[in-house]
Amino acid sequence: MAAKVIDGKALAARLRERVKAHVTRLVEEHAVQPGLAVVLVGENPASEVYVRSKGKATKEAGMKSVEHKLDAATSEADLLALIDRLNRDATIHGILVQLPVPDHIDADKVLAAIDPAKDVDGFHISNVGLLGTGQKAMVPCTPLGCLMMLREELGSLSGMEAVVIGRSNIVGKPMAQLLLKDSCTVTIAHSRTRDLPGVVRRADIVVAAVGRPTMVTAQWIKPGATVIDVGINRIEKEDGGTRLVGDVDYEDVAKIAGAITPVPGGVGPMTIACLLANTVTACCRTHGLAEPEGLTA
Ligand code: NDP
Repeated sequence: MAAKVIDGKALAARLRERVKAHVTRLVEEHAVQPGLAVVLVGENPASEVYVRSKGKATKEAGMKSVEHKLDAATSEADLLALIDRLNRDATIHGILVQLPVPDHIDADKVLAAIDPAKDVDGFHISNVGLLGTGQKAMVPCTPLGCLMMLREELGSLSGMEAVVIGRSNIVGKPMAQLLLKDSCTVTIAHSRTRDLPGVVRRADIVVAAVGRPTMVTAQWIKPGATVIDVGINRIEKEDGGTRLVGDVDYEDVAKIAGAITPVPGGVGPMTIACLLANTVTACCRTHGLAEPEGLTA
């Protein structure tokens, strides 16, 4: 039987509606409008698209949206000074520095400069530590979106075998922490993993975050497993154009999986919706207001 398609677009639309409703309540009942500042350094076309769509989604949710587009030659000191201003700006509850930054800027130093309470990307070492120790953290948007899709699809994840392929700080590791928090038995696989197909075949839940087009095939998948494809890879088509594919061979894996996310239309839309959710969460925490249900892990 063909796998159920997990419609990330529809789930993200529902999450965005919930975020918007909560923003309306915050404005009407507490005179507080959540604000998100996105900082982009340089002219990376993909980053510009992401920043534009984040800004649009923020405004659509009724939040304040501020974009800072800085020249590629901006010094690290100037970027740090901007972050310092945003940290002290009471109308801004979330700060996101779009990665990658140019080589002359130390990304770790920049991420460390963001107030952890405003770190809506969840990359600050304080939030990494809080998540790793099972405490209330700002949770990275992409893994958070994956977790929400898994909970929606499977209900309780307790006791399930989960394999995360990829061990990056922004996707693989926090994804594994979240699955562990939900009581999965978690394996993190990477480029040195021996017999990767055999490892993946044990999994009830597979999260692929690798960056290798269509690497995961049906032979790797246990029948009925739930497959979340984080990968975004642009490949050439025969007509000379390009198209986006994930890390999973969708047509092949859909024949055997129980449920699968498409690319595009799976994890991507949930990532942006979770950024909005994180901004509302950050705003509520800053003002000591009750956090809405279901917006974080
Ligand atoms: P990284 O390049 O930082 O990490 C990739 C990971 O995959 C590494 O841990 C690497 O292992 C592992 N890997 C590489 N090759 C293999 C292989 N042949 N077998 C097993 N493991 C391998 O990538 P990111 O985590 O940043 O992103 C992963 C993918 O997700 C990319 O396609 C990216 O575009 C996409 N992405 C999508 C988002 C969304 O919103 N949908 C958001 C963020 C990312 P090792 O550590 O050993 O080198």
